[in-house]
Amino acid sequence: INNTREFSSFMKSGIYRLNSDPTTTITFIDPVLVLNNSYNRFRVSPSNYYSRFLIKQQQQTPIPRKRKRKNKPPRALNQREQSADQRHQEGRPLLLKAHQSLLGSTDILSWIRNLKSDLSNANAMDLSSRVGNGVHKSLIELGNAWQAPLYDISLYLCRIQEGGSERKVVEMFNNMVINDTSDDAEARFLHNRYIIPKESCFHMSKMEQIHRLIPVTLFPAMPNEGFNVIVIDPPWENGSARQKSMYPTLANRHLLSIPIKQLTHTDGALVALWVTNREKLRMFIEKELFPMWGVSYTTLLYWLKVKPDGSLIGELDLFHHRPYECLLLGYSHREGVNCEPLQTFKDLRRNQVIISVPGDYSRKPPIGKLLSDYAPGLKPARCIELFARELLAGWTSWGNEPLHFQESKYFLRK
Ligand code: SAM
Repeated sequence: INNTREFSSFMKSGIYRLNSDPTTTITFIDPVLVLNNSYNRFRVSPSNYYSRFLIKQQQQTPIPRKRKRKNKPPRALNQREQSADQRHQEGRPLLLKAHQSLLGSTDILSWIRNLKSDLSNANAMDLSSRVGNGVHKSLIELGNAWQAPLYDISLYLCRIQEGGSERKVVEMFNNMVINDTSDDAEARFLHNRYIIPKESCFHMSKMEQIHRLIPVTLFPAMPNEGFNVIVIDPPWENGSARQKSMYPTLANRHLLSIPIKQLTHTDGALVALWVTNREKLRMFIEKELFPMWGVSYTTLLYWLKVKPDGSLIGELDLFHHRPYECLLLGYSHREGVNCEPLQTFKDLRRNQVIISVPGDYSRKPPIGKLLSDYAPGLKPARCIELFARELLAGWTSWGNEPLHFQESKYFLRK
């Protein structure tokens, strides 16, 4: 009975607890179901979200692989690689346990297996995002153009209570664009259509403009405002050609200047930072970045990636291509305000694994709801995502392309 109840609640929330004991929490999430909670009239297109697992793609002619060199003697790991391996060995039993829990859950296994068959025939229904025949330019390119300050976006807001709709034309870049209604809004910008979730806002700008998010500057009358949850997924440099073609990267030294303390609510904030498995990066965060940001009491959450058949997306022990990523969690407080982390944050320090089928390149699962349960301060928590590529109901999204996954081609009508 418990499993049935858990599964029907999963169908609404997209979140399923596979296991929770005093030391470990293992959670499966379906990003599409989670994201759907941000919309009334639209839903996220599964075939677009999981496009990399589409059967069509798998049938493409395989690129011939370079022949492996024969009998390459195993090279001894250098010191940095040894530390990376040690971290991996520490997490390994937990990751295996998490995968076993997934394989033991018949409900969830059959859910993700069905996903695959749904994907193969869902494509035709997606909404088109193009309004006219204009040349398509990415938001990043447009934001870099000299005309950027002149671009406007038209918001079509539904004001249900007032029984009408409103068209609002506001600046697209370097501006806080807000849907303050409790319904989805549609937006038009140049030749594209976007779907804007209820009660969401975005600020599309480059790093140099990040100070505009500091609450005191935005709302001088409310100096106590700030954020209780700050999620950050920086464009880390890693030299991969694929990444270079997707978005620009930022050198570590630029990330030091993100004003975390100033963005933090007076009650404190839960800070969640996505990291890659590079040891050099982990050292930088522990030794320089978190101390500079004033983030303490850190802990780790694993995101384990599975295919729609339930298997891991790659071998667990493959050195450079781990089938998991890490989210570093910590607690920050406003300058001059000294407080102990809450009991809720202490609960978060248990071993945590999130399992999901990944979406597009470098797209992270929407775990904001899970995190906001642990946020310090009054509820609902005030939440912000930095370097975002999508919007969430109740959240502020900042980055140079926060509307990226809001294009209407990623949506279906409910
Ligand atoms: N969390 C996102 C998701 O799940 O889709 C992925 C974020 S991706 C790792 C990093 C983002 O930072 C990209 O959208 C990239 O364009 C953006 N970015 C790169 N340089 C930037 C800059 N100077 N200012 C603002 N955003 C930047």
